[in-house]
Amino acid sequence: MSKLQLRYFPDEVLKQQAKKISSFDASTRKLAQDMLDTMYENDGVGLAAPQVGISKRLMVIDVAGEDEKRKPIVFINPVIVHKEGELVGLEGCLSFPGVYFEVKRANKIVVRYQNVQGRDQKLEAEGNLLCRAIQHEIDHLDGELFINKAVNNLVRDLEMTKHGFAEGDVNQLQDKITATTGHTISTKQSQQQPVVG
Ligand code: ZN
Repeated sequence: MSKLQLRYFPDEVLKQQAKKISSFDASTRKLAQDMLDTMYENDGVGLAAPQVGISKRLMVIDVAGEDEKRKPIVFINPVIVHKEGELVGLEGCLSFPGVYFEVKRANKIVVRYQNVQGRDQKLEAEGNLLCRAIQHEIDHLDGELFINKAVNNLVRDLEMTKHGFAEGDVNQLQDKITATTGHTISTKQSQQQPVVG
């Protein structure tokens, strides 16, 4: 078991389009296993290769609860071939420790990908954590980050500022949020389990 070093915003590798994987050899299997180990170590639900500094189209997800048996899925070269509906929910990201805000995603997706043996797979997910995590991780492979998909940009800015990822005045942001929404927003109030990927 080996743990990989996480990359944090604004690391350049997080903004790059990752490259397609064409060899399904021992090194690809080792990368997938090391990424799973790293994800579990950091209590993540998902992890994409760029988040450990490797610009390749590989990501891992496990949405099993703490008391459940692990259910890891390795996605290689994933492509969303169908999406429908809308789903708003709280998200976090291992590349932005501590930052949580609501993000809008598709409610239902169909994704095609290859497993570590290089076999074609198809998976459908609807209205659940897996559905959200797949969309979050595929974005990472395209150099897209959840900060560009916030439901409320002021709440995002507040969270980014609080955790040292942006410059700003926390009190001023909080006042602006109260002025626009009529109440103080606590980003941790949601009952939904946040995605940390
Ligand atoms: Zn992420």
